[in-house]
Amino acid sequence: MRRFSEHTTARVGGTAGEWIVAHTEFEALQTLSRHPLPSEENRLAGRDTLLVLGGGSNLLVADAGFPGAVLQLAFDGISAEPDETHGGDVIVTVAAGHEWDDVVAWTVQRRYAGLEALSGIPGAAGATPVQNVGAYGAEVSQTLVDVRAWDRLHGEVITLSNEELGFGYRDSVLKRTTLHGSPRYVVLSVRFRLEHRGEDTPSSPVRYAELARSLGLEVNAAEDQRRAPLTDVRAKVLALRAGKGMVLEAEDHDTWSTGSFFTNPLVGEDVVSTLPEGAPRFPALPDVDGTPRVKLSAAWLIDRAGCGKGFGADLVGGRASLSTKHTLAVTNRGEASAGDLLTVAAAVRDRVVERFGIELHPEPVLIGCEL
Ligand SMILES: Cc1cc2nc3c(=O)[nH]c(=O)nc-3n(C[C@H](O)[C@H](O)[C@H](O)COP(=O)(O)OP(=O)(O)OC[C@H]3O[C@@H](n4cnc5c(N)ncnc54)[C@H](O)[C@@H]3O)c2cc1C
Repeated sequence: MRRFSEHTTARVGGTAGEWIVAHTEFEALQTLSRHPLPSEENRLAGRDTLLVLGGGSNLLVADAGFPGAVLQLAFDGISAEPDETHGGDVIVTVAAGHEWDDVVAWTVQRRYAGLEALSGIPGAAGATPVQNVGAYGAEVSQTLVDVRAWDRLHGEVITLSNEELGFGYRDSVLKRTTLHGSPRYVVLSVRFRLEHRGEDTPSSPVRYAELARSLGLEVNAAEDQRRAPLTDVRAKVLALRAGKGMVLEAEDHDTWSTGSFFTNPLVGEDVVSTLPEGAPRFPALPDVDGTPRVKLSAAWLIDRAGCGKGFGADLVGGRASLSTKHTLAVTNRGEASAGDLLTVAAAVRDRVVERFGIELHPEPVLIGCEL
């Protein structure tokens, strides 16, 4: 019997009632048509019978497992065609189960620019729009054209445009219509519009200071002077990520995680004014109701609340702790249960509330358990 601990990067979680692997889109649609969206009441109570699984890198499943059916999307495929509407651009279409980092490598190799800063992120392409995957100043929403998805409410395949996906920071309509891990829309394929100017196509402008510096670029220079060779950007991002334990590496327990466990909090100026001078802050889009927001660094708050690298091991007999390379990842040191990871995460969250009065929210999707 398959266990989530064998199919998730945090390597915890029990079994499922049924485990279905879809090797083709057709197989996925057959299963999906048997699992219409339950009533709102049942969804809110966590009684959906279906869980969609990509690479399992943003999922934390309870030790008791999931009683319903798991649909693992394992179909891949990638193709590119010239974009007739934007001269010099290409449209890249990717099947939901295609491994994300292979997508990035494929585009960089062909000199298509736009995804290179998203190198090294685990998981499958179909999950990337769910939380608007982002890193090093890039987000998939910057290049995503649309997704084809199965709508479990109406039982049909639809196309959702970039605009209709309502992207935000680690957020989208796909995520907002998912309740307790039960999605209304299941992404089947994703299309990206990427820049292509022949063999010498440079990267998209680098927006992240640490990455710009490592490439020898001037952080405040004009956009066109913040471009570098695509392969250099990919190599630097992979190196920077590896130094933080953010590239999967079987032998390295610092990578047995869901990546960042907490999102960076978006707060108002009133909260910012209570923080110490040096607290990192970044511009953010206003709330849906127009309230101005500032993005804080969850890693900084955690560290300054007294939870340094490796924190929490003593709470769970050494089985779990914060990564020894980065304070944002809650890691499995080898024998951890989902409960152990949650114990460490809860201690971190509580300390940050105590020290700064700010509540951190988990980034991974929690199934059958809560923080
Ligand atoms: C070491 C490490 C580093 C990471 N770094 C980053 C990072 O830099 N930036 C970042 O944004 N994230 C990061 N992550 C988190 C994670 O890799 C991404 O969120 C990734 O996109 C999840 O993909 P997945 O296929 O593994 O999704 P899963 O974990 O399988 O699923 C996550 C959620 O998406 C849903 N889902 C999956 N596929 C579909 C689909 N086709 N249609 C609808 N819903 C679907 C699932 O039901 C679940 O709710 C990191 C994780 C790890 C372990």
